[in-house]
Amino acid sequence: MTLLIKNGRLIDPKSNRDEILDVLIEENKIAKIGTNLSEENTEIIDARGLVIAPGLIDVHVHFREPGQTHKETIHSGAKSAAAGGFTTVVMMANTKPILSTPKVLTETLAIAKKEAIKIKAVASITQDFDGENLTDFAELIKAGAIGFSDDGIPLTDAGVLRKALQKAKLTDSLLSIHEEDPNLIGTLGVNDGEVAHKCGFTGAPTVSEYSMMARDAMIAYETGARLHLQHLSAGESVEVVRFAKNLGAKITAEVTPQHFSITEQMIFEQGTNAKLNPPLRRDADISKIIAGLKDGTIDVIATDHAPHTHEEKNVSIDKAPSGMIGLETSLQLGLTNLVAKGHLTLLELLTKMTLNPAKLYDFDAGYLAEAGPADLVIFDAEKTYQVGETFDSKVTNSPFIHQKVQGQVKYTICDGNIVYQAK
Ligand SMILES: [Zn+2]
Repeated sequence: MTLLIKNGRLIDPKSNRDEILDVLIEENKIAKIGTNLSEENTEIIDARGLVIAPGLIDVHVHFREPGQTHKETIHSGAKSAAAGGFTTVVMMANTKPILSTPKVLTETLAIAKKEAIKIKAVASITQDFDGENLTDFAELIKAGAIGFSDDGIPLTDAGVLRKALQKAKLTDSLLSIHEEDPNLIGTLGVNDGEVAHKCGFTGAPTVSEYSMMARDAMIAYETGARLHLQHLSAGESVEVVRFAKNLGAKITAEVTPQHFSITEQMIFEQGTNAKLNPPLRRDADISKIIAGLKDGTIDVIATDHAPHTHEEKNVSIDKAPSGMIGLETSLQLGLTNLVAKGHLTLLELLTKMTLNPAKLYDFDAGYLAEAGPADLVIFDAEKTYQVGETFDSKVTNSPFIHQKVQGQVKYTICDGNIVYQAK
């Protein structure tokens, strides 16, 4: 099968190319990139006025299968990803059962393999997230784990993290961690500030994140292992990462679109759909996060796509589960709040959504080149619209419904196949 994409603005973060070009796809590879390409008997996509970029990569999604398929399945998650322009995603381990054994991991990856996009998974760092006993890294890598994370549950014991990092170094694998010290938190998911106090409880203060991040960044520095810090929310956390990187720690950091787009005030407008861990913060935090994205302190944008049903979310703010879906609004929020506002160039945004996440796990992805993988997204970077009430995800727990955003995905192509096309 061949596919010819004509006259699009091709942006490739690896070669820094930004030109109007044609792309010819044969089977699952890019056969040719050039001008005035023609081919007989091929499907043609007219990409005039559109951007052609590498398929987006999300290193942080929760697809809820096995165990909580009323929220999302691997299939509905994959469809949501494709609709958002993603061709590779990394599932977190907090399924039921947790991805702690080669058996559960193998079974889950077998389901994921049937999907039209590339779905990878990390295994848990500790056995069933017990925070004490490390899983068998070598066996889990053999079973297909690309890294390790107890995401959702912070590792409170510094000694356990140190042992895990030493083991990660021996197996050349990446640990990614969720940093929120439970000993410093009242109620999870709401910033400890104006909003939490109006709700009548103690929330999650920024110090719970940046103090633990500082501790773990220094343990990573001491061990020389690679450590990925998930979803930074506090301004001070950016300073911590900057300091640790300057010291020579092998640290990478991610931020979600929600953490650079909206503040804790959103809870007044959107209620429990704006509750997540770590919580939305204040404008001052967003400014520091944007500075961190600009100067490279923050390497990656990831969604933390976390589906919950309307019934589960339709309870009081202190009782609702934390998390929001994000795959279908991620590129749009980057275009709207980073590129259109002049904080990042389009190339810089795409680098943090393609090339940099690919580097974390050494994926053969995140670039556009002849003989390279035919994983692409084609989008209109200018078109503005209101986020709708329905998604390809199984659920709708997004605080961005009805918000005006910029950017629309037109086609997602994975392994040379069109896996999403805008209606
Ligand atoms: Zn998390």
